[in-house]
Amino acid sequence: MLGCVIHGRGDLRVEELPVPEPGPGQALVAVRYGGVCGSDLHYLRHGGVGDFRLREPMLLGHEVVGTVLAYGTASPAGPAPGTAVAVHPATPCGACPECVRGRRTICRDTRYLGSAARFPHVQGGFAARVVVPADQLRPLPASLELRRAALAEPLAVALHAVHRAGDVAGRHVLVTGAGPIGCLVVAAARAAGATRVTVTDLLPAALEYARTAGADTVVRADDPDDPGWPAEADVAVEASGVAAGLETCLRLVRRGGVVVQLGMLPPGPSPFAGNLVVSREIELRGAFRFDAEFDEALRLLAARPALDGLVSAVVPVREAASAFALAADRSRSCKVLLDFGAP
Ligand SMILES: [Zn+2]
Ligand SMILES: [Zn+2]
Repeated sequence: MLGCVIHGRGDLRVEELPVPEPGPGQALVAVRYGGVCGSDLHYLRHGGVGDFRLREPMLLGHEVVGTVLAYGTASPAGPAPGTAVAVHPATPCGACPECVRGRRTICRDTRYLGSAARFPHVQGGFAARVVVPADQLRPLPASLELRRAALAEPLAVALHAVHRAGDVAGRHVLVTGAGPIGCLVVAAARAAGATRVTVTDLLPAALEYARTAGADTVVRADDPDDPGWPAEADVAVEASGVAAGLETCLRLVRRGGVVVQLGMLPPGPSPFAGNLVVSREIELRGAFRFDAEFDEALRLLAARPALDGLVSAVVPVREAASAFALAADRSRSCKVLLDFGAP
């Protein structure tokens, strides 16, 4: 079977790998699609993401959907073999103080598919067959096909960010960054009842995808005269991962408003307009990954066929290098899927 292994900065290889065997409590899944995420691109370009560095070869990928093939011994009752499933990529420890307090997204000992946050790294899902904990499988709602379901992981990230913002019903939400995550924040904010959503980005092509996701107003971030700039927003979600985006959020959120930092900033310290946080009593909150939002994401995807428009390309796994190049070029793509073929 083929898999996409990152060996270090700039060194992504499509390799022939042995088919894994499911152990106790595990399931074997035939992966159909894997979404290329910004974090996968960071591993390729920088050899790490945020403050996590690659220290050994790692199968990339955490946005995977496919079909259940088999279970190991002593597995919990899961979807029958042949069922289309999405794989929840996170396994919090369940025992640390954060897990006990119900803050499972910031578990200090979580396992996350295709992540170098811990060592040995947790291998990912960009392979034609993967073994995952059986209780991480989620059957797809009846009206949801695998291609759109591949958006479940990034949509769950977006839903968690909106949850972190608090109640956005009837509110004006500003989103900086119209990459796949920013676009899905638009969809999540809409689903949560936001009455107005404004999105900023440097690239017109990216802003078009934000419109597909449901944005009312799109703004060229590099054009101070763009008529779309709001006087202020009730809530701002930073989804660009650059300090300038955070600056925009802090400047435009209303006094006493909430800013959610979702984009992963460059490693190390980042400058930010801290005095605005003080003098306007802005609440600055982080959002990291998700927990039960994964199930909410599958339901929302089933109800929103228009989100198909965010899948901009499906590329055979053998052409992974070109898929990654396409995903990195936001003037030509939104979410790019790798296709591992029919089981
Ligand atoms: Zn992702
Ligand atoms: Zn924990």
